[in-house]
Amino acid sequence: MSLAEVGDDVYGEDVTVNRLEAVAAEIVGKEAALFVPTGSMGNQLAIMTHCGRGEEVICDANAHIFHYEMAAAGLLSGVQLYPLANLHSDAGIGSLSEYIREPLSYLPRTRLICLENTLNRAGGTVINLAQMASVYRLAREYGLKVHLDGARIFNAAYALQCEAKELTRYCDSVMFCLSKGLGAPVGSILAGSVDFITQARRCRKLLGGGMRQVGVLAAAGLVALADTSHLLVDHEKARRLAIMLAQLPGVKVDPAAVETNILLMELEKMPLGQFLEESQSRGLLAGPMGRQMVRFVTHCDVSMEDVEQAGKLIGELLL
Ligand SMILES: *Cc1c(COP(=O)(O)O)cnc(C)c1O
Repeated sequence: MSLAEVGDDVYGEDVTVNRLEAVAAEIVGKEAALFVPTGSMGNQLAIMTHCGRGEEVICDANAHIFHYEMAAAGLLSGVQLYPLANLHSDAGIGSLSEYIREPLSYLPRTRLICLENTLNRAGGTVINLAQMASVYRLAREYGLKVHLDGARIFNAAYALQCEAKELTRYCDSVMFCLSKGLGAPVGSILAGSVDFITQARRCRKLLGGGMRQVGVLAAAGLVALADTSHLLVDHEKARRLAIMLAQLPGVKVDPAAVETNILLMELEKMPLGQFLEESQSRGLLAGPMGRQMVRFVTHCDVSMEDVEQAGKLIGELLL
């Protein structure tokens, strides 16, 4: 980062940002890419670029854009989200067409389907290539666009043993995070066609996301993308923790549900706040997910030994 060659990115003159955008576009098989400060901004730019005011976006009821983006879709783009329970399943995809609005004068117009792979709030679960392809085919049939919230697209790709670009073939735009498991301190990527990115770049400036000598951050993004294979180890660590936790009394953990680097643990008796407080005071950080669910995430700064220690510590806390 300290050696990064920089320039004014608002003028397109930051060579490190330009390199990152080119590399990122190539990795997801899209024509162009845009470096954005956060994944939320990337998703919102996609919604703003794909949709007109008063239009509708179908998403899973667990979607990040629905729960964790401050109702921005309504606030910034004037669109309505239509969250569907279990969209990310064969059954959900099978009945998806029922929720696409008919072209009637008194209904909003469906414009976009937003998928999330992996689906954070469901515990980092994966949708497979066939499922992505079905949604994309349906979207084409109805003249809709597909945006992929791929904050953890590489986790999905490793879990499916495919390349990220095989998944992103089935979307018009994709956002992925350089932060999170890839380990960069800041930044996300939005990718799509040249026309889409040209318009998204205008919207990024509108939202105050045009950053000047931002090559220092893009440099970290290039390092993050150079080798993503450590994500596979994160999956092993999450599975290892799940197996340890599944044996403990007072909690419910399903090791088979752990597909990537996220693990959900349901507390049967201990209040969530108490568990999080006690674990934090002993050096183990986890987050809440709903009222009785603890969310653990494994990443490159946590070793397998750390995971073993975490499992033992949780056992002690639950006694
Ligand atoms: C983290 C995340 C984002 C983007 O979050 P930011 O904190 O805004 O970078 C978007 N979608 C999912 C699924 C995420 O986990």
